Amino acid sequence: MNGSETAEFRRALEDFALASGHLVAIELDATGRIQDYNKGFSLAVSAAGEPRGQSLAAFFPPRKGNPQEIVPGLPGGLAVPYRLVSWDGRELLLHAYRLADEHVLLLGMPLNPDESLAMQRMAGLTTEMGNLVRELRRANRRILDLARTDALTGLPNRRYFFERLGEALEQARQLRRPLSVLMIDLDHFKEVNDRFGHAGGDAVLTAFAELLRGGARASDFPGRLGGEELALLLPDTDAGQGQRVAERLRADTARLRPLGEAAVFTVSIGVATLRAEETGDAFLARADAALYAAKTAGRDRVVVAGAVSSTPAEGSERRRPKHRLLQ
Ligand code: GH3
Ligand code: MG
Ligand code: MG
Repeated sequence: MNGSETAEFRRALEDFALASGHLVAIELDATGRIQDYNKGFSLAVSAAGEPRGQSLAAFFPPRKGNPQEIVPGLPGGLAVPYRLVSWDGRELLLHAYRLADEHVLLLGMPLNPDESLAMQRMAGLTTEMGNLVRELRRANRRILDLARTDALTGLPNRRYFFERLGEALEQARQLRRPLSVLMIDLDHFKEVNDRFGHAGGDAVLTAFAELLRGGARASDFPGRLGGEELALLLPDTDAGQGQRVAERLRADTARLRPLGEAAVFTVSIGVATLRAEETGDAFLARADAALYAAKTAGRDRVVVAGAVSSTPAEGSERRRPKHRLLQ
């Protein structure tokens, strides 16, 4: 539309609106006072006295929830809808259009009681839907937490640990930061179960998990990989720092007494630090090999993986399952 057509179109619309008995039309001047109105307005609002020159508040009092101010849409653009309530509770749905000279045309129609009720119900449904969506989000978060958590220890489970390991590897490479991992296995755990029963073994595992969680920094990521095998992922941690963390964990474990003073428990830990061109599997395999070495050397100790990828030495007492990144 060019400019003159727009003006003519607007003029025709105003004329029609002002003549209509079904539509409600009100023209406000630049100060917000009623400049003109149509028959529909007089019919919809039992106007006492001459509306011209009065403010809208004289017909739609603010305390009925009416807007303080009418802000029209852009020239030639979208109108802004307003719901106005008269003194005697009649509702109108009016769209505010911007006219020339900062005048505003309010154009719309009365809402019949059914429509009004429908609008209220709709508002109620919207609120209800919002609540349901919030509840659903909460439930989904809870399900996700459960799917990621080991039930006995509350630690991240194997699947979640490997998920985070993948992310940590990517980040370490991108930011060129060191990344270390501890592979941890409780020593002689079969004997623990034999001596103290399965519940006793569970208590030891839980106590160790608590220690693992408690000593970790916010960015560290512990996990229970299965049985009595656990791991701790240490972003931003080089081999020396990783070794210190492992050593402290080993020493603290030896001081744990979850089953009374007589029972002492130990862990063996393998430490590996990510190398530049290494795959995630190779990284974990080195930590695993270091853990083997710790077991073979007598347990209750920390072994740091060498710079060269190593496989378990001949004659190590058993073959450990290989950890794979995607499983
Ligand atoms: P090593 O020092 O070589 O690691 O000896 P180990 O006895 O700890 O090793 P092994 O892998 O032979 O045995 C692990 C035992 O851990 C066997 C299994 O019954 C026990 N275990 C695994 N998961 C749980 C658990 O959730 N609760 C309890 N109580 N025991 C578990
Ligand atoms: Mg063990
Ligand atoms: Mg084991």
